Amino acid sequence: MRIARFTTGEDPVYGLVDGAGEKIAEVTGDPLYQRIELTGATHRVEDVRLLAPVIPRSKIIGIGKNYADHAAEMGGEPPAEPLMFLVPNTAVVGPGDPVVLPPQSSEVHYEGELAVVIGRLCKDVEPEDALGVIFGYTCANDVTARDLQRGDGQWARAKGFDTFSPLGPWIETDLDISDLRLVTRRDGEVVQDGTTADMVHGVAALISHASKAFTLLPGDVILTGTPAGVGPIESGQRVEVEIEGIGTLSNPVIRH
Ligand code: MG
Repeated sequence: MRIARFTTGEDPVYGLVDGAGEKIAEVTGDPLYQRIELTGATHRVEDVRLLAPVIPRSKIIGIGKNYADHAAEMGGEPPAEPLMFLVPNTAVVGPGDPVVLPPQSSEVHYEGELAVVIGRLCKDVEPEDALGVIFGYTCANDVTARDLQRGDGQWARAKGFDTFSPLGPWIETDLDISDLRLVTRRDGEVVQDGTTADMVHGVAALISHASKAFTLLPGDVILTGTPAGVGPIESGQRVEVEIEGIGTLSNPVIRH
């Protein structure tokens, strides 16, 4: 299933998106927490405003340097154990929402990533059990103020600004993520072209590692790291993160 959160001008609701990504069938309730039923209402996707498919109630767990080619371009080796950081849920925006460049930074980068949405409360998950706690997958842009990341010594501010965690366009619940092409475009130009097969630590290992530190809750999101090709974004540009089998997350960049 492809589960979208959207609005037609009223309160946000959820819906099931068809395979072509053109139609959306409205459902009752929140699929993360409740049984859902079709309401009978359908919309064209182009006629609704898609919202971030999940607003994590608890946390976004980012993973740093999880592709060897990206670790190399940052000037190092991938860490032996997954390197985790936390992003506040106030950083989340949805498809089409602007990424707002903050005045504190003059070097903001895109990072196209596969995001894992957790579906069950869990703790101390072993890797062989990890796929059972996944609700689904979506596209993410782990926007990073690179200059502040270097200067601050830790990454909370550099990755946690409002609008720095675009998610969407929807959650795909049935997906083999072992080898999915991940492409990032800046103003239409391909700037990252990788595959999830190149993750240093796979999704099962990441969930296990994270859950041995933190209780994971439904709606928590794990950003699984970015392949090589990160680079700057400027006001007026648009970034698209496309993952095979999911779709395309597209966001304009602005500076107030
Ligand atoms: Mg990242």
